[in-house]
Amino acid sequence: MTTIYDLDAVEELRVRNAVQPHRLKLFRNALFKNSNDWKSALGTLPEAARSDFEDGLKFQCLELAERHDSEIDGASKLIFKTHDHHLIESVVLRPKTGRTSICISSQIGCACYCSFCATGMMGFTRNLTIAEILDQITQTNRMLKPEGRSIRNVVFMGMGEPLLNMENVFQALDYLMDPQLYDLTGSRITVSTVGIPQAMDRFTEMYPDVHLALSLHSARQEVRQRLMPQARVYPLEQIRDTLLKASAHGKVMIEYLMLAGVNDREEDFQALEKYLKGIPVHINLIPFNEYAGSNLRGTPLSERKAFGEKLKVAGFNTTLRYSMGSDIAAACGQLVQHKKKESLI
Ligand code: SAH
Repeated sequence: MTTIYDLDAVEELRVRNAVQPHRLKLFRNALFKNSNDWKSALGTLPEAARSDFEDGLKFQCLELAERHDSEIDGASKLIFKTHDHHLIESVVLRPKTGRTSICISSQIGCACYCSFCATGMMGFTRNLTIAEILDQITQTNRMLKPEGRSIRNVVFMGMGEPLLNMENVFQALDYLMDPQLYDLTGSRITVSTVGIPQAMDRFTEMYPDVHLALSLHSARQEVRQRLMPQARVYPLEQIRDTLLKASAHGKVMIEYLMLAGVNDREEDFQALEKYLKGIPVHINLIPFNEYAGSNLRGTPLSERKAFGEKLKVAGFNTTLRYSMGSDIAAACGQLVQHKKKESLI
């Protein structure tokens, strides 16, 4: 069925019901900017048009199946069920200082099979549609409204590899930045990737203002390809060229997950320094979120700090990420893994 995210279909309904453009604008604002529930959004339309809009449009395409609020920080994990009974996750972060952010999924499962990532263990089911990508934000905004909050930052760091669902993710970016819809500036959106050079180039050309995050995790080819099978297909050298191009446009973030004895030694530091030399990037050192079934271990905090200090001394803009929502398994790479789709049918 047609969803509210199908703007052509909405326009058709408008014409058929002779709704004035400014009334449709009120309707769109109610849904996407003011995060009203759909019944009150319908109330912005002329009475005669309401039933046609109600019958002709699906107002939400995901169903909130579970909500877990962290007791230690401002994170909430939301599990949504798709129409075909799959589960995806979004994570809301409410940092004390700073803007409310959402980490959203772009696929059901993931085909990249990174060895440290719990999503990879689920295998790949399918791409999310544009409507499913956006509905994570619309529904969350509605949930946040009573708190007086709304989503100000969107990161594509949930389940899936966004650049392997490029068409839908790109269209979702268009919607997010559309002043008539979500009206977010590009610098409030980050797309995170395992590193697919052609797709990164296209992304940079089309969305120079949107931030790009590369999950690098090692600057040593043999180590990286042990951690991330995709690295065999897209070697580090090739990715470096795309990073240079992307960094000329805007902020590029390097995500570096720190794994004890795997990528946290002196030779790893040196390889990283050499690889990133001359590219203006922001390096984010990430703690490993351990999960059952993985025998990898995270680098202890003191060593992460020391690694970060060395990067700073070498001239890199570096931060240590502290994981939020660890008590609700909301952190990256821990999404959904213990749920089987049958359990919610
Ligand atoms: N596929 C994209 C986005 C999803 S993963 C990508 O790879 O960038 C989002 C981030 O979480 C990536 O940097 C990923 O490497 C990281 N991540 C995955 N599993 C993790 C884990 N167990 N602990 C910490 N970070 C993890």
